[in-house]
Amino acid sequence: MKNKITLIFLLFVGLTYAQNQNPIMVKYAETITVEDMKEDLTILASDALEGRETGKRGQKMAAAYIRAHFEELGLEAPVPLGNRMSYYQDVKLKTSKVGEIYVKIDGKKLTNSKDFLYYGKGSNTDEITTEVIFLGSGSEKEFENIDVKDKSILVINSDRMKRREILNRATEKGVEMVFVVRSNTDEEFKTFIERFGKFFSRESLGLDRGEEGKEGVGAFYISPSKAGEIVGKPYEKLTKAIESFNSGELKALKKIKPKNVQYKLEFIQKKIISENVLGYLEGTDLKDELLVLTAHYDHLGIHDGKIFNGADDDGSGTVAVMDIAEAFVQAKKDGHGPRRSILFMAVTAEEKGLLGSEFYVENPIFSLESTVADLNIDMIGRIDDRELESENYVSLVGSDKLSTELHEISERMNNTYTNLFLDYTYNDENHPERIYYRSDHWNFAKNGIPVIFYTTGSHPDYHKETDTVDKIEFELMRKRAQLVFYTAWEIANRDKRLVVDKATKEN
Ligand SMILES: [Zn+2]
Repeated sequence: MKNKITLIFLLFVGLTYAQNQNPIMVKYAETITVEDMKEDLTILASDALEGRETGKRGQKMAAAYIRAHFEELGLEAPVPLGNRMSYYQDVKLKTSKVGEIYVKIDGKKLTNSKDFLYYGKGSNTDEITTEVIFLGSGSEKEFENIDVKDKSILVINSDRMKRREILNRATEKGVEMVFVVRSNTDEEFKTFIERFGKFFSRESLGLDRGEEGKEGVGAFYISPSKAGEIVGKPYEKLTKAIESFNSGELKALKKIKPKNVQYKLEFIQKKIISENVLGYLEGTDLKDELLVLTAHYDHLGIHDGKIFNGADDDGSGTVAVMDIAEAFVQAKKDGHGPRRSILFMAVTAEEKGLLGSEFYVENPIFSLESTVADLNIDMIGRIDDRELESENYVSLVGSDKLSTELHEISERMNNTYTNLFLDYTYNDENHPERIYYRSDHWNFAKNGIPVIFYTTGSHPDYHKETDTVDKIEFELMRKRAQLVFYTAWEIANRDKRLVVDKATKEN
């Protein structure tokens, strides 16, 4: 008996489920197929594309492939370039690598990443001679006690948070350079160098905003015995002087007179251009408002001869955006074009720190004020290693953070059309992985634009050369892409623009 009731109930639910569906939307969602996705992803994640690392040949090849797809669909090229329009937005980047960096005490040259560690950007200089002042532990009181403008300071402080304050204060006061003792013994210092030396001297990549020297004062991390050499006294005299200062003897620090020190900072910088690939579909009566769909197409490149194919990360999101674009184009051809305009954007340099999307929001092609939402997809092709209720799932992040309506639409579209298990584990702002801040949607969200981030989360092949196309669950991936399509359709076609009813939490 009970089973019969359940059956009738299920039939009823199934019927209303189907009845609420808009057949036009279903028709175009069904144009997103496993075959199309497989074909595109097999190319994007092939060895020929060399792991699509930002600025490298494989990334350029991937950009050309996506661009060709957008052009073939008939999407407009929206980026002004001279007197023509382009699908590419040139993202200006700059790499910086440590060149010759040294410190000289008593004319004796010390080596970076061995005798000391330099931390900071700084531009190229010839050898500089600097006057050093001993500033104890670098407290506010010590800064007030001595004039440090245009001079270098030597401080002893093993507290990480305090050291950050010291650098900020030193920048404010116009200090030239900071010498920091952060370890209590030479032995401890050696361990520190072994642990962080590589990290500090690796090549870094950032946006090239054409401005120099705004990063704040740099710091040389030195050992206790080297600090002793700078003042020409045993290290203990320095810690004693701090104790005396703290017990009221204000002249204790001034009695320590460090020698002048020479240093050189050389960085090898290179300008790089990488490409965001943009395809634009103009809306009808509400075309001045814009919905953005994003996925990053760059990945990690080649390391130790191994190609990181990045099939899931984020080949999966990239082909989803390509195929969702195709569905909307087809609908428009049949007279069902979206009322709002849609920008399909394959983003570069995500793996380098969300740089492509950061560049876009700093140099938007369409005003951010008229941008109603960003739906961002990053890794939707796998089943992650968590225990979830169903394999038929997708994790959503950010949907309820800025717009209650967006969250409701997303839930309703899923209930009506895709029936995936929606997992919100990563949506918790206190989640240790901080996913809300870790893909391209964040650059939109921080500008007050509502976002949904779609992901299926991490797996053992994440950021490994084993993230390959043969491991993709295409049938599941297709459903996840369809949920994005339905949600996009609703956002683009509803009468009213999404209401932003929650203030931006961080900026
Ligand atoms: Zn990714």
